[in-house]
Order: sequence, then C-alpha cells, then structure tokens
Amino acid sequence: MLNLVLKVLLIFLPYTSQCGDGESSPEVVNNNKFEVDNKTIPWEIKDAVVEALAYFPELAGVRIDFEFRDRIRGAVMQAQPRVLTLLVTGKETREYRIKITRELDLGDTLLAIKDVPHDALVGWIGHELGHIMDYKERSTTNMMYFGMRYIMSNKRLTEAEIAADTYAISCGMGHQIMTVKNFILNQEGFSEEYRSKIRDLYMSPSQILSLQEELENSDG
Ligand SMILES: [Zn+2]
Repeated sequence: MLNLVLKVLLIFLPYTSQCGDGESSPEVVNNNKFEVDNKTIPWEIKDAVVEALAYFPELAGVRIDFEFRDRIRGAVMQAQPRVLTLLVTGKETREYRIKITRELDLGDTLLAIKDVPHDALVGWIGHELGHIMDYKERSTTNMMYFGMRYIMSNKRLTEAEIAADTYAISCGMGHQIMTVKNFILNQEGFSEEYRSKIRDLYMSPSQILSLQEELENSDG
C-alpha cells in the first residue's frame, strides 16, 4: 500500500509549489515565457495555448504552468497537479502544470511542437485542459486513489482519457480534438507503441464524432 502511494507521488514529483501571488495582469516573466491569469506560457506556443484556454472559462484564475520538456515517457503532453498543493491546500487552490515535449520524435526527423498544425496543437492542449477539469472536481483522497488505479489499470487509463476528451468536446472543441486524433493516427514517424496506445486506450475518431453530435443535439 505504501509502495503504491509512493508510486503515485512519483508521478507528481519533483515539483513543488511556487506559490502564485494571485495577480492576473499580463507580465513578461523572462524571455521564454509570459504570464497571464495565473498561467505561465512559453512564447513559442502562446497563441495555441491562449486559444485553447478560451474554451475553458472555468479554469480562469487557476494556476497552470505550461512547461517544455525534452522528453516525456510514453506521452507528448501530460497534465498533473503540483504535489505540494495536492497534499497541503484544498482543491480550490490546487495548482497544476502541463508538461509539453519540445520536439516530437518522428523517427527520421524531429518536429518542433510549435510547428504541429495549429488546430491539432490547440486540440492537444485542450485535451490536457480537459484532464485538469477532471482533476479539479476530485478531492485529494479521490485524486490519490485515482492516480493509483491509473497506474495499475488500462481500464482506468481509458476512463481518464475519455473524461478529458469529453470535457474538451463539451466545451466546444470537437473539431480540434478530432484534428489532433487524426494527426496522431496518420502522421508518419510516431512509434508503433505510442500509436497503438492512442488507438487502444483513447477515444476513436468515430466515438468523438458521435459524442460531438450527441452533445450538439442535447444543446438544441
Ligand atoms: Zn490524456
């Protein structure tokens, strides 16, 4: 049991809170990032991130740091709560980060994330924001159990990914979620391991389409 808890912590470590001051005025942090509404965003992908955030008014004021990484195991992007805020503060003030691979490894070539087709990149970020919408609703205890089950079970992984896509699609991002799905499934060069994960554990294009239609019909 302790072993599992440690494993869960390891997913979220080693980041600690930087304690945002709650100010939301746009402000240049340094040459690489800018800060707005409690978010830090790398300049290179600012337009896509701001466009995706516009679909999620419920994330206004929520601390989210978008951070480049050279490599993320088994993923291109990853949304996580910051572990200190997970343990110490309530879910209202929990802070998050979204790790983003700087360059996609396409076998023969590297594709800078900023050069991914715009709508696909917006959809990719939207999916991660969908995860944060999901995390935001969970208590800390629920979050810990969720993390454990996520590690141990493909079924839970599938449920979490469907939840993220569903949040994004219900916020009006059906087109972008579809675009990134097709981008991943059709782009030459992604490893077969990554592609089969996306095929087997994530929503398929036809599932996205039927969910999108269902949500649009229930709106009308
Ligand atoms: Zn995901």
